[in-house]
Amino acid sequence: MKLEELTTLFSIYANEGKLYRPSYYFPVDSTVKPVPIISSGAAFMTSDILTKITRHEMPSDVVSSTMHVPKIAWKTGTSYGRRDAWSIGFNKDYTIGVWVGNFNGIGIPELTGAEMATPLLFQMYNAIDYNSGNSWFAEPAELDFRLVCPVTGKVPEEFCTNNVIDYFIPKVSSNIRCDHLKKVFISPDSAISYCTSCIPENGYKIADYPNPEPDLVAFYESEHIAYRKIPPHNPKCERIFEGKAPVITSLSDKKEYQIEKDEKNPGQLMLSCTVSNDVSRVFWYINDRFYKEAKAGENIFFYPEKGQLKISCSDDKGRNVNIRITVNYF
Ligand SMILES: [Zn+2]
Ligand SMILES: [Zn+2]
Repeated sequence: MKLEELTTLFSIYANEGKLYRPSYYFPVDSTVKPVPIISSGAAFMTSDILTKITRHEMPSDVVSSTMHVPKIAWKTGTSYGRRDAWSIGFNKDYTIGVWVGNFNGIGIPELTGAEMATPLLFQMYNAIDYNSGNSWFAEPAELDFRLVCPVTGKVPEEFCTNNVIDYFIPKVSSNIRCDHLKKVFISPDSAISYCTSCIPENGYKIADYPNPEPDLVAFYESEHIAYRKIPPHNPKCERIFEGKAPVITSLSDKKEYQIEKDEKNPGQLMLSCTVSNDVSRVFWYINDRFYKEAKAGENIFFYPEKGQLKISCSDDKGRNVNIRITVNYF
């Protein structure tokens, strides 16, 4: 996507979920009918999330300085290899998109959306919309409030604490009850865990363990955030596990990948996946041939051949997922 296209799309949040017109540089006929893209409730909730000032992608020099921070909603992005830094913001009057990068595509370590593009975005708001007041979007009538678990955002169960009030859209938002903890059978010394197939007749206990979604596990691993892991599974257990197989996140099933032909610097594709809380190693296969073992959450790379490729990922509990992609060189 081009910066103009992405910025135009972000303007739907400021327009109750409707797309009014493509961006333009010269006066044009602007009598085009708005196109509804998302509901006004979804637009308001997304804007609300993107307005929170205490976000980890807040640039450090903004947090530590007295810089005037405009009231806007914004989202950052950093491309793989730190080649592009993005930040797109909106308030009631303006939607602004910022791209920072090298025109030759060379990445540099300092290039991130939060550190490079967001400060520029704030400066631009201060230049064209300084002290614009804090008037914000009106809450659409379709929204309502309810208590949710602060860990998952789901409807609280008995074991959830410090529940918070949050927006939801009746009959649209999920009503799934919270599963942020799960009961696990473990040995008395908490060294190994059991499933219903291998649980001994006595000499075990039941404990509550965090039950994060695979993408949250991947986030914890990548940010080196400690969390309580389920002990390794009973090594004598022979059962193939039920539960969540890895999800390949770097490549999509049935998609075609176009790779630039470059003899000196041949293009690679990344292999990454999200896994359950009970997984520590994964095994990658390309066209049914073993390629590499990796840690859960680790990104690895390969040089793809032209044509159809079957990519498989198995976790250390024997759960497997396959996808098929097509690779072309141009
Ligand atoms: Zn909960
Ligand atoms: Zn077992």
